[in-house]
Amino acid sequence: MDVFEKIKDINAYATKAREQGLTIGFVPTMGALHEGHLSLVKKAIAENDVVIVSIFVNPIQFNNPEDLAKYPREIGKDLALLQKEGVHVVFTPSDKEMYPETVSDTYNLGSLSSVMEGKFRPGHFNGVAVVVHKFFQIIQPHKAYFGEKDYQQLLIIKALVRNYNIPVEIVGCPINREADGLARSSRNSRLSPQMKEAAPFIHQQLVEAIKLAKELTAEELENHIILVFEKHPLFKLEYFTIANGSTLDPIKGKITENSYGFIAVYAGDIRLIDNIRLI
Ligand code: AMP
Repeated sequence: MDVFEKIKDINAYATKAREQGLTIGFVPTMGALHEGHLSLVKKAIAENDVVIVSIFVNPIQFNNPEDLAKYPREIGKDLALLQKEGVHVVFTPSDKEMYPETVSDTYNLGSLSSVMEGKFRPGHFNGVAVVVHKFFQIIQPHKAYFGEKDYQQLLIIKALVRNYNIPVEIVGCPINREADGLARSSRNSRLSPQMKEAAPFIHQQLVEAIKLAKELTAEELENHIILVFEKHPLFKLEYFTIANGSTLDPIKGKITENSYGFIAVYAGDIRLIDNIRLI
């Protein structure tokens, strides 16, 4: 497995692979890898000749400096995991390598980027679009893999490649969960033992929401979840929104086909997100 820190090196590798007629699968990550990331890597390995994984904690997608400072970094462990999976190349650029100058690019990502995560994390999706577009230009992969754990991000990346005519196939991958239902996340490692034990409650409420979606309107179900979290002693709900799984337009009244429930919850100072298809 090769590890490249420089854009020119990864670009040369990818260019050569393409010239040899090899297909390139790309998995962008921020490291502190877990089974969720590895599920994307496994799919990429199964579907491509060459798999490139990036590990880069992208500073410009963090709207909270403390979250950036405390984001887990475990590069040695990450490289060992990727080597075991049979990844061909890992790209680990520095901040300066990715952003030699101050970034001022603004992407038009439409209404997808103004709701939920876009509303509560201003600038987040623009930062994601900047870094993912840069990676696509540097690596020019045939396919790129993104998790439905960050469902809104997946839709935004699909919009990015459509709007900016980027020739890459975006592959969505299902949410990988702990045995207790908690969606795997690098931030889970920062949960206190008490919060970690309580955190499966979030997924349990989403599963409960699937049942209630048959009887309640969207507004009633949203209010129900808000009340459930108001009563919970540990968690602070940021939002629970029922929205269309393609457009993210809010659902009003009867909950229809392709509706999803999206949730963001604070467990202490750790912000967790999850989602589930309701119907
Ligand atoms: P991150 O390192 O958090 O930026 O995540 C890198 C990629 O892994 C993103 O496409 C995420 O959606 C995906 N991912 C993270 N956690 C999970 C999970 N539990 N299941 C599926 N995909 C995930």
